[in-house]
Amino acid sequence: MPSFVIQEKCDGCKGGEKTACMYICPNDLMVLDPNAMKAYNQEPDQCWECFSCVKICPTQAIEVRGYADFVPLGSSIMPMMGTEDVMWTCKFRNGLVKRFKFPIRTTPEGAANAYADLKGQDLASGLLSTQEADGFALPVPTELA
Ligand code: SF4
Ligand code: SF4
Repeated sequence: MPSFVIQEKCDGCKGGEKTACMYICPNDLMVLDPNAMKAYNQEPDQCWECFSCVKICPTQAIEVRGYADFVPLGSSIMPMMGTEDVMWTCKFRNGLVKRFKFPIRTTPEGAANAYADLKGQDLASGLLSTQEADGFALPVPTELA
């Protein structure tokens, strides 16, 4: 189900030029009603349900109903961003609450250098990227004429 804004919780990002949800949405869906100072999803049928706006909203005003494979029907899921991790709170229909914490990237924007140790490896070697040289090597395909 697409994102929706809980009006009572939204403060319009306190009147900033561009709200957090407008900044983050990859499909340019979130807009701010300047009179009410509340955001809304202007085109719900185009929502990817990516949760980006849900995660970035500073007042936890946006919800997206989670997919049935991780939150069964009638449950709710809400992420809360911290400085070191994101915590997901899942409330089940029977009242059970479970929380899961996952680490997040803490490097400054644009500074991530993922898998630095693996860069520059010989791609023609036939070894998997994390495989030691004396381990099992996959056969190297031969080029057909
Ligand atoms: S990020 Fe949250 S508080 Fe800010 S405008 Fe969007 S819904 Fe409202
Ligand atoms: S869930 Fe993703 S695609 Fe949908 S409104 Fe939020 S940021 Fe945009």
